[in-house]
Parts: sequence; C-alpha cells; structure tokens
Amino acid sequence: MPDCPTDFALPASDALPASLEGVAGWDLHMHSRASDGALTPTDLVDLCHARGLTRIALTDHDTLDGVTEARERCAALGLQLIPAAELSCQWRGIGIHIVALLPQGVSAGLNAGLLQLAEARTARSREIAHRLEKIGLDDGLARARREAGSERPLGRPDFAAALVTAGLVPDRKTAFKRYLGAGKRGDVKTHWPALESVVGWIRDAGGVAVVAHPLRYGMTRRKRDLLFSAFIAAGGEAAELVSGYQNPELTRDLSRQLAFHGLYGSLGSDFHYPGGALAPGTLTPPPRSHVVPIWRHPALGPLIAGASAAIGQASIAPRLHHERS
Ligand code: AMP
Ligand code: MN
Ligand code: MN
Ligand code: MN
Repeated sequence: MPDCPTDFALPASDALPASLEGVAGWDLHMHSRASDGALTPTDLVDLCHARGLTRIALTDHDTLDGVTEARERCAALGLQLIPAAELSCQWRGIGIHIVALLPQGVSAGLNAGLLQLAEARTARSREIAHRLEKIGLDDGLARARREAGSERPLGRPDFAAALVTAGLVPDRKTAFKRYLGAGKRGDVKTHWPALESVVGWIRDAGGVAVVAHPLRYGMTRRKRDLLFSAFIAAGGEAAELVSGYQNPELTRDLSRQLAFHGLYGSLGSDFHYPGGALAPGTLTPPPRSHVVPIWRHPALGPLIAGASAAIGQASIAPRLHHERS
C-alpha cells in the first residue's frame, strides 16, 4: 500500500483488508434522491458517517448527478467516495444492472452513454405509463412525477407509488409483484442498451464494471455462468459477492463462481431509504473465499488507499452537458 498521507488519509490500523472476509466500513452500492433513494446525497453521507463507514460509492440509477454533493460531504467528514453509478442494460432479454466504479470520473464516451440512458429512461417511462393505462391508471406519467417529487428521471418505484396512491394495489410490494416486477407488463426493458455497450462505456472512462446483485435476476447457476462469460468478453471485471442480505449458502456458491471466472468481488447494501430492512453498510458477512477484493484492482487500489486527491478531482460530467445535447 502506498504511504502517501493526505487530508483524507485514514489511520494505519485502517489498512486495506487482504480479503473480503471480515471487511468492515465499506459499502459500494447505495442510492440517493438523484435516483430512487429517499435521502439527499448529504444526508446519505451523514448517515454513512454515523454508522462508521469509511469507504463508499453512491450508485444512483443511470446518473452521477448526486456525486458532486456526496463528494463535498465526504471530503468534509473524511470518508472516501468512489464516483459511481448503477447502469441499466439488457442481456438476452433480461434487465441487468452494472455498477460502474469510476475512479477517473466520466469520459466523453461514457457521457454519451449516460445521455442515451437518460433518453431511454424517459421513453421507457412513457411506455410504462401507457401499459398501466390498461389496468386503470390514468395519466400515469404525471402521477409518477408527483410521487418522485422532483424532476429527476422516473423509475419503476415511482409507478409503484402511483399505483398505491390510486388505490389499485395495497402496497408497493404488490405493485411490483403484479405489474412492475420481472416479466410483468410494466417491466419494460427494450429501451436499455446492450450489456456490451454499457461495459464498453465504463472501460472508456477507465472504470471498473461490476455485475450488481448477481443472485437477483432469477437465473440458474448455468445461466449466470453465461452472463459472466459475456460480461468478461465485453471487458467486465467484477461482480458483487454480497448485496445486502443474502443467503449464506448461495453466497458461498457465488464466491466459487466468481473465483472460477476470475472476477473481482465487490459488496454493497443497495440501500434506498431509512426504516427498511437495510441501512448503509448492512451486509451478510462475505464468506472465506479466493475471490480477490475489488480494492485490489489496479485502477482502484491506490486511490482507495488514500494515495492522492485524484479521487476528489475526478471530473464528473456537469449537468450542463446533459442539457446541451
Ligand atoms: P428501474 O431502474 O426503473 O427499472 O427500477 C428498478 C428499481 O425498482 C430497483 O432498483 C429497486 O429500487 C426497485 N425494485 C425492483 N424490483 C422491486 C421489487 N420487487 N420490490 C420493490 N422494489 C423493487
Ligand atoms: Mn433502485
Ligand atoms: Mn439494481
Ligand atoms: Mn441499486
């Protein structure tokens, strides 16, 4: 580990752990109000700090709009923030989420990709609203917008909330189960770019692509093997070994699968809002395994070790860019 103290340098006792097992203070998958999370980036970072986290990534869906604010708060509190986002794509007709860890920020290629994702999300929202008309939700787009409470891009949770408010379902869980979950009429995936494109954009920015929550796609182990092979062929390098609460036995098996494919292992809570089952840093403990921790990746290691302020300087595409094109 480089010995390069900075303002953000952490005590020596906080050296990077050699394995994922027993890791504490990390959470590389969380959401803020920039997408479907309940907290502002500042409040999220405050909560992480209060819970003793030291290294975090804000991974809002298809946007880095919350990263600048989160970065400022992290700098003030001495937390290390990896610029990141959770990008939507599709592979073999399945909606897949790829966490982009972006130590060097956003490149022109990735910025163009983010614009494409924003447009896809807008077109998809219209399609979801159209499909939900058929089950009695009138003016779904405006209703979802009201639920979002801001101009941020809409997501399925906003439509779930609209269905609840309209009295068409008792709760959001039921909304997903009946209308918005995988394979239901409101699960529109056709707008999302291919897995290969998204991984290419991340590589273009010098980032690390991470398959988010691999156990949450309802895939067989064999299918997951195919996903990982396609992902690696496209330039992907990591997957989340643990996402929030996860069955320990399935996690052990997943660890063998990641080790077999030579994928780095990441981890995160996928925190969205307080009061639920998960809080920042809430994770099933990673098992003992041969999976190499994500912070050993050459693109992330030095920066996570506090080697420079580069992480604080990474250029995040300004909002202006989005508006211009
Ligand atoms: P979207 O990015 O618009 O496709 O929305 C995906 C988001 O919806 C996920 O990140 C979760 O926050 C939420 N979500 C997905 N499936 C469910 C579910 N079954 N129950 C509750 N929330 C869900
Ligand atoms: Mn979400
Ligand atoms: Mn996800
Ligand atoms: Mn997520």
